[in-house]
Formats: sequence, C-alpha cells, structure tokens
Amino acid sequence: MSGPVVVITGGVGGAKLVEGLTHAIPHEQLTAIVNTGDDFEHLGLPISPDIDTLLYTLSGRANASQGWGREGESWSFMEVVRSLGGEDWFNLGDGDLALHVLRGAALRAGQPLSAIIRRFALNWNLGLTILPMSDDPVATWIESDQGALPFQRYFVEHRCTPRVSAIRFVGAESASPAPGVIAAIEAAQTILIAPSNPWLSVDPLLALPALRVALERRNGPLVAVSPLVAGTAVKGPTAKLMQELGLPVNNASIAAHYGSLLDGLVIHESDDAPEGLAIARTNTLMQTPQDKLRVAQAALDLARQCAG
Ligand code: GDP
Repeated sequence: MSGPVVVITGGVGGAKLVEGLTHAIPHEQLTAIVNTGDDFEHLGLPISPDIDTLLYTLSGRANASQGWGREGESWSFMEVVRSLGGEDWFNLGDGDLALHVLRGAALRAGQPLSAIIRRFALNWNLGLTILPMSDDPVATWIESDQGALPFQRYFVEHRCTPRVSAIRFVGAESASPAPGVIAAIEAAQTILIAPSNPWLSVDPLLALPALRVALERRNGPLVAVSPLVAGTAVKGPTAKLMQELGLPVNNASIAAHYGSLLDGLVIHESDDAPEGLAIARTNTLMQTPQDKLRVAQAALDLARQCAG
C-alpha cells in the first residue's frame, strides 16, 4: 500500500498518469491538484481546460486522438456561432458546452470552482478527489515576440508559434490554494508531479506561495515524471519553449527546474539521467492503459525507494 498520494497535474500529459494511478492505488487514496492558470472566459462561459481534460479522461469521455474535448462530440453550436460571425478560434463542442454552462451558472450563484468540480466528479463516479489549485483567478500570460498574450490566445489561436521570452501567472501571489489542497499535501505519503509541461502547467501551482511552502514541508518523497520521451516532448510546446528560454532539451533541465523540491525523476529508458537524484527508467510513452499503469507504478516504486 502506498498511503495517500497527491498528484500535481496539468491537462493531457498529466491526465494519462492520473489515469494510470487510478489503476495502481485505491481511488480514495488519490488526490489530483490541477492547474487553473489556463482557465479563461470565452463567449461568457468559464472554461477550465486542464480540469475538463481530467474529467473527460477519467470518465472515459475524452477524445484521445484529437488530444482535447470529448469523444463522439457534435458541433451544431460552433456552426451557428460561425454563421453569425461569432469568435470561432476556440472550439466548443455541444456536449462540452453543457459542462461550461453548468459551471458558469454555479459560479454566478456563488459556488466556488472546487465545489462545482467535486460535484461533477461525483456525478461521473470518478472516485478520486480532483481539486483546482485555487478558487481564486490565476491567469497565465505569455510574453512573446508578438507581445503579451493570454495563455489560450498563445496556445490555441496562435498555435504556440510566438517566441516566448517569459511567463507570468497573474494573481498567483495573492491566490489561496483551494479548500483541501494544503490538507491533501500534508496528509500525502507520496507526492507526484505528472509529466505536464513544467513551465506552463506545473509552474502556476508552484507560484501559489502557500502551495509551494506546503510542498517544501511535505512528509514523504516528491517524484516527477519527465515530459521528455526519447529526448523531446511528446506533444505541445514543451521542447520549443525550453529552447526559447535558452535551456537544453534534456532531463537535467527538467530536474534543475524543480530543483530542491525533487527527490526522484522517472525518465524514458533511452534518455540521459541527470545527476544528484534518484532515477527510475521505463518506457514513459503512455498510449495504452498498460503503458499508463506501468509509468504510474514506476513513479510509486521510485517514491517508495526514496522514502527508504
Ligand atoms: P496540457 O495542459 O493539456 O497542455 O497538457 P500537459 O501540460 O499536462 O501535458 C503536456 C506535456 O505532456 C508535454 O510536455 C508532453 O511531452 C507530455 N506528455 C504527453 N504525453 C506523454 C506521455 O505519454 N509520456 C510522457 N512522459 N509525457 C507525455
């Protein structure tokens, strides 16, 4: 038994590890703390891309080949938006829309995001605890050669083409972790960082002062899974971003980024191992349920080893 496990995660890459963990340990021992720096309002609707990816992935509703949104989605809403000359750079499927409408109504009625997500997870029988990092707004902004861009404008509208010089998390300094976040970290015997983008998906959480302090004071080991597989990112802008920030695209840069927080790193079998911390090697490409379980197990085993 591993005892309570906390996993810090962003969207697609992170959700794969969280799914693996749900098959490795009892659901009631697992808490996912999720990035909300990507959250934004679009067409009057509040969107939480990373939380929603987790909800869709863990409930078996995710569109795995597309990498976002729901499987078997229909697009009537977008067709009408387009025909009326509305903004169509961010796709909202019909079923996806239901989630955003319900979340918007609940937020307007004064409910915190964390309570709304708890209810969604309960309704879909997910079993584990999914916590937004904060109920307070935190917004990731990208400083680039095309000016300062809100995250989704950079990520979706500009398809990550702008050259990034800096990343800011507006609101993070004064945001409080959501109810349950600090208690989960204090109770955790193991803390994992999913193979999410360290700069875009994990840093917003680490930018919350109280969350960072809680991680520094943790009881058990902290192990990350590297987002680099065979020397590069599986998907998304991680490798491009590292180059633009002047960092070598390797596991030493990932380890250095997390610095003294990290006790161990799970890396892909053929990749270089950074020095000075515990390492586990496996094939970290997660395509099948077996892959996800293997990587989750490798992370839990390494944490156990670090705990001595
Ligand atoms: P986003 O928030 O939806 O952009 O997704 P994340 O930040 O959670 O995940 C993006 C990162 O996940 C990228 O750096 C990928 O390299 C990494 N990633 C995606 N799939 C895998 C995988 O199968 N294995 C590993 N190790 N990393 C992955």
